[in-house]
Amino acid sequence: MLTDELRAEVARLKAERDAVVLAHYYVPPEVQELADHVGDSFALARQAATLPNRTLVFAGVRFMAESAKLLSPDKVVLMPDPASDCPMAHMVRRETVDAARATYGDDLAVACYVNSTAEVKSWSDVCVTSSNAVKIVRELPQRNVLFIPDRHLGSYVASQVPEKNVILNDGYCPIHRDISADEVAQLKAEHPGAPVLAHPECGPEAMALADFAGSTSQIIEAAAAGEATDYIILTVDGVRGELERRCAGSGKRFHFPATRPVCPDMERITADKLVACLRDGTGEVGLPPVEVADAARRTLTRMLELGAR
Ligand code: SF4
Repeated sequence: MLTDELRAEVARLKAERDAVVLAHYYVPPEVQELADHVGDSFALARQAATLPNRTLVFAGVRFMAESAKLLSPDKVVLMPDPASDCPMAHMVRRETVDAARATYGDDLAVACYVNSTAEVKSWSDVCVTSSNAVKIVRELPQRNVLFIPDRHLGSYVASQVPEKNVILNDGYCPIHRDISADEVAQLKAEHPGAPVLAHPECGPEAMALADFAGSTSQIIEAAAAGEATDYIILTVDGVRGELERRCAGSGKRFHFPATRPVCPDMERITADKLVACLRDGTGEVGLPPVEVADAARRTLTRMLELGAR
């Protein structure tokens, strides 16, 4: 529970540092409440690139803060918990990329989910998020697309863009992958007719039960615009707060799988750590070596250009 003193302390420290706090939908609710902007990775990446503040505090996992630093290298980017990292961000090997490039030559694009390290981005041609992956892959001039690191989002993209040969890599988000199809079936039995809104990082068995697939923001929009009262939500439980804010007064109810989908790395970020980071300037994110930074920045910029069209 946030106290008025803590809210006032955060406001004072933000003013002192000319800082703005960006929080992902998956971090704990009290951190979302203290943030200036809450969103999914695409919205936050776009926002971070346009904000005038000198300091960006990124309440999310490392690849998000790293992307913000790549896009705004002159700004100070701070992480409340620098150990918050996404395991999927590392789940691809350089040899996989090199082998695909050797096989397909110029008729290959490497599309890299933004949930990846700067180094992985630097091996790639364009970044994508779950909001814009289908659109961007569809518009790429190459017919062959190596999709890294997430196999499940890659499979979903392949199903939506059948004209492309989408080559998959073996990475995955452990939280979405472990959403159990049996638990989804149980929810459907308990709430007959409730639309199932799923994040495409979920595994194929759970996705087969979904009525709608989309990014966290797209799930929120679909639930807000829908006419049903009950919704089954297949993504990280942290999104519940924004669903309830957006649908306040509508009587809508949101049901998550019995095994609560929680991202332990996002949960590491607490209000106390946010205050400490604002007060002490700790958790600063640096730039990778210049050749990595330049190549990774190109993939992010290309995404922002293609995603904005
Ligand atoms: S929810 Fe999954 S993809 Fe997102 S940060 Fe956590 S582990 Fe990574």
